[in-house]
Amino acid sequence: MTELAGAQAPSALPPPPRMRIVADGAPATRAAGRDGAAAQADREIVFDLRDVTVRYGAKPAIAHITLPIQRNVVTAIIGPSGCGKSTFLRCLNRMNDSIPGFSISGQVLYHGHDLYAAGVDRVEVRRRIGMVFQKPNPFAKSIYDNVAWAARNLGLKEALDDRVERALRGAALWDEVKDRLKASALGLSGGQQQRLCIARAIAIEPDALLLDEPASALDPIATAAIEELMHTLKRRYTIVIVTHNMQQAARVADRTAFFSLDPTSAEPVGALVEYDDTQTIFTNPADSRTRDYVSGRFG
Ligand code: ADP
Repeated sequence: MTELAGAQAPSALPPPPRMRIVADGAPATRAAGRDGAAAQADREIVFDLRDVTVRYGAKPAIAHITLPIQRNVVTAIIGPSGCGKSTFLRCLNRMNDSIPGFSISGQVLYHGHDLYAAGVDRVEVRRRIGMVFQKPNPFAKSIYDNVAWAARNLGLKEALDDRVERALRGAALWDEVKDRLKASALGLSGGQQQRLCIARAIAIEPDALLLDEPASALDPIATAAIEELMHTLKRRYTIVIVTHNMQQAARVADRTAFFSLDPTSAEPVGALVEYDDTQTIFTNPADSRTRDYVSGRFG
């Protein structure tokens, strides 16, 4: 609890926005369901990156990234391998911190507060900003215990059954597992395991979800289920997804950021080339590098 107490310090994070996980079909948050540029323009900014450069040792991985990420939309990060997509994503919940040699300059603001300021507690950051990885990584525990795991760790033991059910419904998995909650999570299919990992992430009611190639290890049917889920989840969460699959970005994302290696730099370093509505990125991009990439000419 002393770690969480750090969140009370002046430079620490603001109280979490009032949110709860609700079953499918429940009313969406204020901004959800509105379409069009005007609606998008007035959305709250959740992450505001300002001139962010990340190095591993002396070598920069991404440089001078300035990018606002809006609430309750899906933002996709696309670009060729090695351009820093995962590095960027991991900056948003301080998952890079434990990598030897990692350093960051610039600012990563989360609801206006610097995520890297002194006094910000990393445990609290990860509670608010959940992450799902490329390869489903359920624990060797029951389905129930996987979903209840983080809630128990945080002492959120009241009405745990309801919390687990809400999370599994939120991840579109409840109907498939409700009769075998005590069975091992390892017996689920890959696609079910990934949805279980999403349920595990949303069970503690985060504010944002970071997804790093969440469907790249899955078959097309399981991929379609995850993509469908994105559309539902964005009503309650701010979602940032890294994908190498451009069709997937076009299908799920409202906003898309195209990263590439900066050819003007002496050594290969990831740079943000273009960031816009997904439709613009795919049909009328401003930069010829974006056009070449989305039309499959390189990458
Ligand atoms: P992408 O997700 O676009 O493939 P990454 O963020 O994984 O790109 O990598 C960007 C650059 O950072 C690459 O040059 C990669 O070698 C380097 N990098 C990534 N992770 C590490 C790490 N843990 N240690 C050192 N260098 C890393």
